[in-house]
This record gives sequence, C-alpha cells and structure tokens, in this order.
Amino acid sequence: MLLTDSPRFEIKRFVGGPLLTTCYALIVPGKESIIIDAPRDAWKGAIAAADERNAPVQLALATHGHWDHVTDMAKMQAMGYRTAGHPADSGLFANPMAGRAGLPFVIEPVRIDQRLADGDHLSIGGVDILILHTPGHTAGSVCLWIAGEEILFTGDTLLKGGAGYLERPESDALALATSIRRLAEFPSATTLYPGHGAPTTIAEETWLEDAQDPDTLVRYWKAGQRRWKPPGGGINEEI
Ligand SMILES: [Zn+2]
Ligand SMILES: [Zn+2]
Repeated sequence: MLLTDSPRFEIKRFVGGPLLTTCYALIVPGKESIIIDAPRDAWKGAIAAADERNAPVQLALATHGHWDHVTDMAKMQAMGYRTAGHPADSGLFANPMAGRAGLPFVIEPVRIDQRLADGDHLSIGGVDILILHTPGHTAGSVCLWIAGEEILFTGDTLLKGGAGYLERPESDALALATSIRRLAEFPSATTLYPGHGAPTTIAEETWLEDAQDPDTLVRYWKAGQRRWKPPGGGINEEI
C-alpha cells in the first residue's frame, strides 16, 4: 500500500505479529530507505519493497523497545542492517521478553548501533527526518517528523483514536500527557503513521483538543479511553 503522494519518497506499510504491529518503509527511489520497527516477518516485505526501488536500507529504527516492535530487529541486524533506538529503552532492547512469558516465540535482545536523541536529524536519500523524544508509553519512545511534508511517524505514542497503553511498569502517564501536548501542536493537516492501525491526521484526532489541559487528558485516560486494541482480534493484550 502506497501511503503518500510526495514526489520525493514512498511510504509503504506492512503489518506483522499477533498485535498487528506496523512496519513502515520510507523509500527514496534510487537512493536510500529506512525501515521503522520490525514486527514479526513484516520487515521482509519492507526490504523487498526497498530493493525493488533500488533504495538500500540504511537503518532499522525502533520507535520504542516493546517486543512487538523489535521482534525481528536482531534478525535484521544479523543480516547487516544498522539499528537505531533511544537509549532510555535500553532495558527493553536488552530483554524484550521480560514479563512476556506467554509469547510463543523467542525474541533476541537488540543491540542499538545508533543511539537517538531528541533533535537528531537523519538524512535518508536526502530526506530530512527529525527525531522527537516522546516518553510516556515507554521512556524511550520516539516520533519521526518529516519537515515540509507534514508527516509524523508516531509509534505507540499516538494512535488513531487515542494514545498508547499506559499500564506497563515502563509507562508514565504524566510524561505521555506532555508528549501528546507536544504532538498536538503540529499542523492540523499532519498525517500520523502509528505503530498499530490505520494512518490518521491531527485534525481527525479531535480528542487532541483536550491535550492543552493536562488534567483533562489524564482524566480522559483514567476513564479508560486510552486503550487501543487490534480490530477483529489478535491477542487481547497491551500494545
Ligand atoms: Zn505496539
Ligand atoms: Zn508499545
């Protein structure tokens, strides 16, 4: 599925694993590509799409360290792809299966080659990507902003209809409220590419209007409306 009409690059979306986690390929044809997250098996299609456009993959970036986003990151690394992630999730990267004893497959620890920080710029085939550190869902969650295109990859920080799950020990509701307020400031036409589910826009996410008042946002979450589950099934578990 082609997700952008930018003349400069293509965004393709692949879905893998029991939580229907998204893997994106941002492909600059004839130049370079980046793969965002590595859910189970989905990255294979992303690499094939990049190869097809003669755009070698420069980086496999984890939006955060949750197991469903890094399931196959070590496999990609073993194939020679460089990995990137925020060091605040280093505990999750080192032990992605911690507290997940029920998983029917093994997830290898991920070694991060490129440590991301807020304000970093990545250049992929000449396309500038700004890294935003958006803690809350996890301490090391990041979003990726493409200036001039109004495109934001949001991981599990911001999903269609709500924010990511907050009930794991690595979650922090107040930090997430701060991060959501920051994202709500982006232009209303910004397209959001989340870690689960369909793309959306800032304008469509009308609940973000509440984000200006941190108390309102936290109350909203306490009412249980922050949860998001895969449509039509999947494991009934946190993402
Ligand atoms: Zn997730
Ligand atoms: Zn997550």
